[in-house]
Amino acid sequence: MFQAVYLDKPADRLEAGIRALPDDALPEGDVLVRVEWSTLNYKDGLAITGKAPVVRKYPMVPGIDFAGTVEASQHPAWQPGDRVLLNGWGVGEGHWGGLAQKARVRGDWLLARPENLSARQCMAIGTAGYTAMLCVLALERHGVLADSGEVLVTGAAGGVGSVAIQLLARRGYRVVASTGRIEAAGEYLRGLGAAEVIDRAQFSAPGKPLGRERWAGAVDSVGSHTLANVCATTRYGGVVTACGLAGGMDLPATVAPFILRGVTLAGIDSVMAPLPLRQAAWTALAAEIDTDKLDDMTRVIPLAEAIPAAAELIAGQVRGRLVVDVNA
Ligand code: NDP
Repeated sequence: MFQAVYLDKPADRLEAGIRALPDDALPEGDVLVRVEWSTLNYKDGLAITGKAPVVRKYPMVPGIDFAGTVEASQHPAWQPGDRVLLNGWGVGEGHWGGLAQKARVRGDWLLARPENLSARQCMAIGTAGYTAMLCVLALERHGVLADSGEVLVTGAAGGVGSVAIQLLARRGYRVVASTGRIEAAGEYLRGLGAAEVIDRAQFSAPGKPLGRERWAGAVDSVGSHTLANVCATTRYGGVVTACGLAGGMDLPATVAPFILRGVTLAGIDSVMAPLPLRQAAWTALAAEIDTDKLDDMTRVIPLAEAIPAAAELIAGQVRGRLVVDVNA
C-alpha cells in the first residue's frame, strides 16, 4: 500500500483527499519508482482545486513531477536503485502522478538525477525551475545574451519567476523583476539577483500596440495583457519567452511588435519537450543553481498539506517553490 493525493469526480463534483492505495492500482508502465519528494506546481494547483480542466480522467493521482529511486524495472535503461526524476509527459494529468509514495511510469519518461543534487533539491527546482531554464536556453538560442540589454521576468515571486531570476543573474544578465508584491517580496527578489523590482500593475491593463522599447528579452509566466504589454515594450529584435498563464490564457495583442520591431515570441513547453532538451536543461541546472538560494525560496510541506496549499498557489499567495515530502 502507498499514500497518495487522490482526486475523484463522482456526480461531477471534484473530491480531493489522501488515500492509501494498493500497488496493483498503479497504472501500466515498465518502471516502478519509490517517490521521495514531489512538488506543487501551478498546474497541480489547477488539478487539485479543479479550477481548470487539467485532469483528463478520474480517479487521478496529481503531481506533474517527482524524484525518487527505481524499485523495479522492465526497461533496459533503468535498474533497481537508480536515482531518477520525472517532469511532465502528461503525468498527473492523464497518468497517475508524483503526489504519492509510489509511481509506475514509462521508463522513457525518466531522467537520471544529477549527481550533485538531492531528490529534494531536484523537486525544489521542479517543473517550474526546469521551465525557467528552458526559457533561459531559448533566450540564448535566439541571440539574447548577457550584454544584449535588460531582461524582464514577470510573475517574479512565483516558482518559474524566482528560479528564472536566479539563473539569469548568474549568467550575468541585468534582470528586472515584475511583481504584484513589491513590499512583501522586493527584498527576496533582489536577494535572488534582480537588479530592479517593478510593479506588475504597469503591464496588467489593456495597453497600446507599441510602447517605449526597453527589454532585450523577457520570461513571461503571466500571459494575457501582461504578455501583450511586454511584447509591446520589447526592443527591436528582442525575444519574449512565453511559458505561463497565471494572469490569463488570452493574448490581447497586435502584430505590431513582431512586424515593426522584429520581436520574436518564443513558446516554451516543458511537458512534451524532447529528451535532449530536457537533458540540456537539467545539466545546466545542476551546474548553475545556487542551492542556498534554492533553500531560501523553498517551503517544505507534507503530502496532506498539498491539498490546502493548492488553493493558496492558485491565489498567487505562494512565494517561490513548494516541495512536498510524500513520506511525511
Ligand atoms: P506560481 O503560482 O508559483 O507563480 C505565478 C506568479 O504569477 C505569482 O506568484 C504572481 O507573481 C504572478 N501572478 C499570479 N496571478 C497573477 C495575475 N492575475 N496577474 C499577474 N500576475 C499574476 O506559478 P509557477 O511559477 O509555477 O507557474 C507560472 C505559470 O507558468 C503558470 O501559468 C504555469 O501553468 C506555467 N507553467 C508552464 C509550463 C510550461 O511547460 N509551459 C511549466 C511550468 C509552469 P507576483 O506575485 O510576483 O506578481
